Amino acid sequence: MELRVGIGYDAHRLAAGRRLVLGGVDIPHERGLLGHSDADVLAHAITDAILGARALGDIGHYFPPCDERWKDAASLDLLRRVLALPELAGWQVVNVDSVVVAERPRLSPHVAEMTRRLSAVLGCPAECVSIKATTNEGMGPEGQGEGITARAVVLLKKET
Ligand code: MG
Repeated sequence: MELRVGIGYDAHRLAAGRRLVLGGVDIPHERGLLGHSDADVLAHAITDAILGARALGDIGHYFPPCDERWKDAASLDLLRRVLALPELAGWQVVNVDSVVVAERPRLSPHVAEMTRRLSAVLGCPAECVSIKATTNEGMGPEGQGEGITARAVVLLKKET
């Protein structure tokens, strides 16, 4: 069996008049994340971790912000498209661990649904998808409510 590990990081600004989508779940909040797609920072970090595991570049390479096709795109759909790349044929997600850093809103009530949606797209059991949410204790851009960031680590396997 071949194994590969990948890391992903993403950050988006919070802005008025935008939806807040994390892990494919619409979360009620007075501001949302700004971006060309739905700016789902968690889905982007996981997508980059998967690409990284196979040294396939990053999400911006496949879905450039200058391309109108991806305007307001659902990031879970972008993740689905990455998993369908020929370079990832035969590769399976073993597990994902992730952290979302947001001062507000409280994310814990939404983690179960985020896990359910991500595991459905990733094709692995929910128990293999870990989503942790933390504040930044008021420090830095996340703490000041300027934006939300996410980190993810992914393990891929391929039976040989
Ligand atoms: Mg992004």
